[in-house]
Amino acid sequence: MPRNRILQFLVVALTALAPAACADQAPFAATPVDHRWADGALPEGATVFDDGYPGVRNLDPDLLHTLREAATDAAAEGVVFYVNSGWRSPERQNLLLRDAVRTYGSKEEAARWVATAKRSRHVVGDAVDLGRTDATSWLSEHGAAYGLCQIYRNEPWHYELRPENACPAMYDDPTQDPRMHQ
Ligand SMILES: [Zn+2]
Repeated sequence: MPRNRILQFLVVALTALAPAACADQAPFAATPVDHRWADGALPEGATVFDDGYPGVRNLDPDLLHTLREAATDAAAEGVVFYVNSGWRSPERQNLLLRDAVRTYGSKEEAARWVATAKRSRHVVGDAVDLGRTDATSWLSEHGAAYGLCQIYRNEPWHYELRPENACPAMYDDPTQDPRMHQ
């Protein structure tokens, strides 16, 4: 092959490869140098499949695996499991608690919505807050079959894994949960 033909071939081959390489990275906006998400904060639109974010990646592996299984089945009905909050660093949890105390006016009222870093199931990666309404209504109907359970009546978005596939009776809010008083 003449040299210029070889060059031409290479240019065509590389151009063909370039978009594929970009497409591979597109769904994961977060990179190891992106510190915005290091404490578990998540951007609008993150889903249970977005491993690039610590808030998703640091969830308990069984919970994450089960969420993805359910999300794959729900996708067949056009439902997407967005993650509003998953794993959180203790610092982020404390920040949220301080915000809640400010919003609700007292520690007692804030405790109905946000736990301390020591007690929150989010800090250990065992809880996920899902959106949007179609995902939470899909899960309220089908979640128990996967062991994905709503735990608190006042938080229809908060799910935890109960692998025994029997969702326990819901607490009205976290203040009734014995784990919050240990
Ligand atoms: Zn939660």
